[in-house]
Order: sequence, then C-alpha cells, then structure tokens
Amino acid sequence: MGFQALDYYALDDQFTHEERMVRDTVREVVTSRVMPTIGKHWAEGTFPHELIPVFGELGLLGPSLTGYGCAGTSPTAYGLICQELERGDSGIRSFCSVQGSLVMYPIWAFGSEEQKQRYLPEMAAGRAIGCFGLTEPDFGSNPSGMLTSATKTAGGYRLRGTKRWITNGSIAQVALVWAKLDGVVRGFLVPTNSKGFTARDIHGKWSLRASVTSELILEDCEVGEDALLPGVSGMRGPLSCLSQARFGICYGAIGAALACYDEALSYAKDRVQFSRPIAGYQLVQRKLVDMVEEITKAQLLCLRLGRLKEQDKITPGQISLAKRNNVAMARDIARDARDILGANGVTHDYQCGRHMLNLESVFTYEGTHDIHTLIIGASVTGIDAF
Ligand SMILES: Cc1cc2nc3c(=O)[nH]c(=O)nc-3n(C[C@H](O)[C@H](O)[C@H](O)COP(=O)(O)OP(=O)(O)OC[C@H]3O[C@@H](n4cnc5c(N)ncnc54)[C@H](O)[C@@H]3O)c2cc1C
Repeated sequence: MGFQALDYYALDDQFTHEERMVRDTVREVVTSRVMPTIGKHWAEGTFPHELIPVFGELGLLGPSLTGYGCAGTSPTAYGLICQELERGDSGIRSFCSVQGSLVMYPIWAFGSEEQKQRYLPEMAAGRAIGCFGLTEPDFGSNPSGMLTSATKTAGGYRLRGTKRWITNGSIAQVALVWAKLDGVVRGFLVPTNSKGFTARDIHGKWSLRASVTSELILEDCEVGEDALLPGVSGMRGPLSCLSQARFGICYGAIGAALACYDEALSYAKDRVQFSRPIAGYQLVQRKLVDMVEEITKAQLLCLRLGRLKEQDKITPGQISLAKRNNVAMARDIARDARDILGANGVTHDYQCGRHMLNLESVFTYEGTHDIHTLIIGASVTGIDAF
C-alpha cells in the first residue's frame, strides 16, 4: 500500500484535480524510487544522481515556470511536489529547489532570451544542473555584505571571491554567482568549466548527507558579456529567488513531518511495553496528538499561502511566517518521533533520525529561524531590528 499522509481536516478536496494528480504521482515515485535507496545514500554521504533524469521526465525541475520545456503547474502544485519530495528526504527536495527556484526561476524572470533558450530546456530535463552562489564564508545572514566582485573587461567580466555552503556546487554545469559590479549586486551565469572556477565539496556534515554542498572559488574567473543577468540589479535579485524557494520549503517541511509522524504512529501501535502497545499510554498519545495538531496547522498555512501566491497577493512576511513555523514544527516532530521510537530511533533502520538531522540545515538555510523572526518583526512594527 502507498504512503497514507495525515489529512485530519480533510483538506484533500481543497486541491484541484490537477494538484492532487501531481501530488499523488510524486508520492508514488518517492515511494518506489527514493525510499528504497535514500537511507544508504544518506549513510554514505552520496547524492542519488540516478534520480535526476526521473525528476526531469516528470517535470519536477522548475515545475511552475511556463514555456522552455517547463510544466507550468500552479504554485500550490509546486508546493505539493516539494512536500512529497521532502517526505523522502530534505536533500532531494533541496536539489529540486535549487535547480528550479534558485537558478531556473531567475533565468526565466531576469534572463535574456538567449540565456533562457540556452539553459532552461536543458535544466528542465535534468541534462544541465545549476547552483546558486550567494552565501560567503563571512556573509551568511547578511549577504549584502558580500565581498565577491565583478570587474568589466574588454570581452566580459572578471569574477573574484569565494562562495560557501553551495548546494549542487560540484555537480553543476552553471553557477549563478551573485557579485558586486561597481558596488551593485548582480547575477552572473558562470559555466563551471570556466577558467578560474573551482568547486570543492564540504565533507563531514551531520545533515543533508544525501545532498552535495560545496565551496566555489573564483580566481580571476573570466566570463563573457552574455553571463550577466540583464533584468535585475541589487539585492532584489537574490531575494526574489529566495522567496520562491522558501515558498517550497514551507510545504517541504510538512513532508518531513508527515514521514516522522507516520513512522512514530505505526511504531507506537506495534511496540508493546508493560503488556500494552505504547500508543495506549496517555503520554505517548499526547505526543502524537501534538504532531497531528501542528501538522494540520502547517497544512492550513500552506493552503492559504498557495492561494495567495496564485492571486499574486503573497508578501515576503507571509512566506517568512510559514517557513519559520513549519520548519520549527517539523524539527520538533522529528525529535519527538525519535523519542517515541526509543533506542531504535537512533539507528539508520528508521528514518526519523535522518529527517531530524536534515531539518537542522533547513532551519538554518534560506534565512535562519531568527532571521525570519526579524523579517516578520520588521513587517509588523515598521522597525528594522537586524
Ligand atoms: C546544507 C546547506 C546548504 C546550503 N545551500 C546554500 C546554497 O545553495 N546557496 C547559498 O548561497 N547558501 C546556502 N547555504 C547557506 C545558508 O543560506 C546560510 O548558512 C544561512 O544564510 C546562515 O548563514 P551562516 O551559516 O553564515 O550563519 P550566520 O549568519 O553566521 O548566523 C549564525 C547565527 O546568528 C544568528 N544571527 C545572525 N544575524 C542575526 C541578527 N541580526 N540578529 C539575531 N540573530 C542573528 C542566526 O540566526 C544564527 O542563529 C546552505 C547552508 C547549508 C547548511
């Protein structure tokens, strides 16, 4: 039997037929293609490259973009795709978020026609991979302080700097590097075989182990005129990409929470202590009920968030609120699920420990929990507390 996701408030009928179909297809693919091997990949710290063409074929790379080989789904369907992927693993969802929201989206929104034709169909099919280079060793929560620079040359631009914690860095064919040109942040599409470009993987992670995380080094890296993203300048460029990706993460976190809840519930019904299933004890029921309550609230937030995005009424503060709430919710649920599984919960035989550790990265990237507090705080008080 396939995965039965918690739907305590019968939200299923709030989705369109197409949204349900997309969700159910991805759910099945995650069950049949991701679940059998993800634990091994995570344990060994390897990325499941074999899934890339599968995702390309299903239209999961840049799904809500239109034209250029992209599927053109509704934002809600995109969110549900993220939810299902993260039910498998946050690293899998991260791969698709970076490809679709952080690299394909800015090319689609701010790129020249030539850049769109060159990159989008290949990336939608999974034949070309992208990475998004914003964070630097000394500039994480405050990316506007970045040191990476671009200087105009006779035939294009010369880039200098270091980007760190870059998902897909060493497997990408194109890196979207954010750098200051005459003091203004601009995006550059850097082919990763450019002279002066190096990507080195970061090893020894406790978290997102089935995802590639790299450092990008740009040592007088020369790119042509056609590398510059013409349609955006300033921090609006990277921030608008982050809004797209954060929207998907709000749903993705629910997927991780659903997986942990499901595992904890079935374990609690089977596990007998003091001659009774532990699910029959009030303290365990309290934990399960807290999970149901928090997942349901997160689902309702996302349902509304998706519809606001469809009507083009969504605000960055609303995205921050859902990212902040839903990731913290999933992180707490993963830890409680681990607790319900007792000693078994600390082994690789169960998935809640993997989700628990993955969610530490999700809590930190795409704006830390605290940074989202400050974004919401600024929006309600009108006072910037950064
Ligand atoms: C696995 C992984 C993948 C990633 N992938 C990418 C990627 O693909 N591309 C990319 O560009 N980046 C990526 N990142 C980087 C990520 O976005 C940053 O780690 C994040 O923005 C936080 O930056 P930092 O790690 O430098 O922490 P810091 O900014 O140093 O923050 C450390 C702590 O200080 C707190 N803090 C900072 N400023 C304030 C303040 N003003 N008030 C209160 N508290 C504050 C933070 O909330 C946090 O708790 C990734 C990170 C990870 C872990």
